[in-house]
Amino acid sequence: MSIIVEGLTKVFGSQKAVNNISFTINKGEVVGFLGPNGAGKSTTIKMITGFLPQDAGAVSVCGLSVAEHPLEIKRKIGYLPEANPLYFDMYVKEYLGFIAGVHKVPQVAQKIKEVIALTGLGVEQHKKISQLSKGYKQRVGLAAALIHEPEVLILDEPTSGLDPNQIIEIRNVIKEQGKNKTVLFSSHILQEVEAICNRVIIINKGQIAADDLLVNLKKNTGTNKVIITFKEVAGKELMQALNAVSELETTDGFTWQLTTSDEAATRKQLLEMALRENLNITALQTETNNLESVFRSLTN
Ligand code: ADP
Ligand code: MG
Repeated sequence: MSIIVEGLTKVFGSQKAVNNISFTINKGEVVGFLGPNGAGKSTTIKMITGFLPQDAGAVSVCGLSVAEHPLEIKRKIGYLPEANPLYFDMYVKEYLGFIAGVHKVPQVAQKIKEVIALTGLGVEQHKKISQLSKGYKQRVGLAAALIHEPEVLILDEPTSGLDPNQIIEIRNVIKEQGKNKTVLFSSHILQEVEAICNRVIIINKGQIAADDLLVNLKKNTGTNKVIITFKEVAGKELMQALNAVSELETTDGFTWQLTTSDEAATRKQLLEMALRENLNITALQTETNNLESVFRSLTN
C-alpha cells in the first residue's frame, strides 16, 4: 500500500472538518479526491503530507507512519499545495535548484533539466517566477514537487484557476506521472477526475461519501430517465401503471419524463402500452446516469 488512512479526524473548534475517514491507495494507482469546496480535501491532504497533525486516527505513506517519520515521509512524497507557494523573486532554475538542495538531490543540473522537460517549462525556463502566467507558475510547482523523484505525488487542486488549455496540459503531466507513480489529486470538478483517472474518493462534509471506480459509481448510484413523446396526450393513469417507475413529470401530457430503476423494462412497457392504447410515439430516449448527477446525489 502506498497510502493508508485510518480513522483520520481533524477538529477546528466545534467543527469536525475531517470526520473519521479511512481509505487505502495502492502503489501505482491514480486516484481523484473529489468534493465540494469546504468538504475537507485540503485538510486531509495536509495530514497525509505531514503538514498538519491529526486529532485522531493515523496515516502511513509507503509503510511509514507520517507522525513518527516526518522527514522520511517528505522524501517519499511530492506535494503541490493548494496555494502553490513560490518565491516570486527567484528565477525558475534558481528556485528548482533551491528545492533540489533542500532535498539533497544529487546531480542537480541534470535533474533540473529533466523536470523542466517533464512539466513543459522549456520556453519559460529563463524567466523570473513573478513574470510567469498562472499556468506556468503551476508547472514550476509541479516541477518542484517532482525534483526529488518521489514515489507518491499529492496534488491539491492542481488545475484550479487555470485556463482551459493550461488545464489540459497540466492534466497530461499528471497522467504521464501516473504511469510510474502513485498519485492522489484533489478537485472539486468532476470532469477533471473523469479525465485523469478511473478511481475516485468522494468526500463531503468531512466524511467519505463514495470510494469506487467511476464505472461502478455510474452503474450503482441513482436511476435513469426515459423521456417519451406521444402525438396525442397520454393520461397520467397510463403512466402510473408502469412498473419500476418512481417519478413522473410532464408539462403538457405529450412528453413524459419517467425516472426508472429498470430502463429496459420501462421502454418495453411503454411500447406495449402505446400499441394497446393506440398512441403514436414520436420520440423515445434514455438519459443514463451521468456522473454529474451521481456527484450531486452523493454531496447534496
Ligand atoms: P476543501 O479543501 O475541501 O475545500 P478544507 O479542507 O480546506 O476544504 O476545509 C474544510 C473545512 O475546514 C472548511 O469548513 C474550512 O473552513 C475549515 N478549515 C480549514 N482549515 C481551517 C483552520 N485552519 N481553522 C479553522 N477552520 C478551518
Ligand atoms: Mg482545498
